Amino acid sequence: MADLRIGIAGCAGRMGQMLARTIKDTPGVVLAAGNERPGSPAIGQDLGEVAGIGKLGVAVVSDAAAMFAGADAVLDFTAPVAALAHCQLAAERKVILVLGTTGLEAEHFTAIDAAAKRTTILQAANYSVGVTLLTELTRQVARTLDPDFDIEVVEMHHRHKVDAPSGTALALGHAAAAGRGVEHDAVAARGRDGITGARRRGDIGYAALRGGNVAGDHTVVFAADNERLELTHKAGDRAIFARGAVRAALWARGKPPGRYNMVDVLGLAR
Ligand code: NAD
Repeated sequence: MADLRIGIAGCAGRMGQMLARTIKDTPGVVLAAGNERPGSPAIGQDLGEVAGIGKLGVAVVSDAAAMFAGADAVLDFTAPVAALAHCQLAAERKVILVLGTTGLEAEHFTAIDAAAKRTTILQAANYSVGVTLLTELTRQVARTLDPDFDIEVVEMHHRHKVDAPSGTALALGHAAAAGRGVEHDAVAARGRDGITGARRRGDIGYAALRGGNVAGDHTVVFAADNERLELTHKAGDRAIFARGAVRAALWARGKPPGRYNMVDVLGLAR
């Protein structure tokens, strides 16, 4: 089988560069194209040199359509507005889209689902195998423990991160809510400050820390009187997300249109 031709949206970004390095080291895939936002200094430069993997002879483009034209799969770790445009192009050209961008709202998911009727879309707030398992464990523990256990999701990321709580923290909160059989948005307590009053029974609370170059730490705390259970994952390097995203692209090859996630890729789907 021919190598899977991969395009990287936002190829000069932190994840974009890591994805390029991962593709170089993964059999069965080839880095075929990359784009950047209009005005980026990376446009016109060599894609391989931008990612620090040596000259590839392929220039970084600003025209997303041109990137999709030369790829079997596109990995998108950019920003919500760009991710929406890339969904549309993936649907039109029947290209696999692996969406890693976070900060997505309900309107984005509506657009992703519309695009997923026409092509294969992977969407995960966190492509690491460990976090996928953490999410499943969170669902299971929330299902097992009674509502006397207060649930709090604590995360820490590097100082450059622009959205909070992290997409992964929200995914963990959603998994906890699903495990409990409650609607997430009705119980989410996002950010406390000042005289907040006592904690509401059944709430799922969030706390976000920012600093240094932390790739991503997440802890789900289940706290009752005299007993506390904590599930923690710590990412040491962005490479774990990149490896998962490339694995997801390879998995998606030949799959029918639809929206899938890492639970499907790992074969954990219930
Ligand atoms: P970054 O700012 O370093 O990189 C984003 C890149 O996207 C930049 O180079 C930017 O110029 C580019 N970009 C923005 N708009 C664009 C457009 N219209 N077209 C093409 N390129 C465009 O950020 P990052 O740390 O690499 O993270 C990017 C996203 O990925 C964030 O939403 C982050 O939360 C998410 N992320 C997800 C995972 C996961 O496993 N799902 C892991 C890490 C980061």
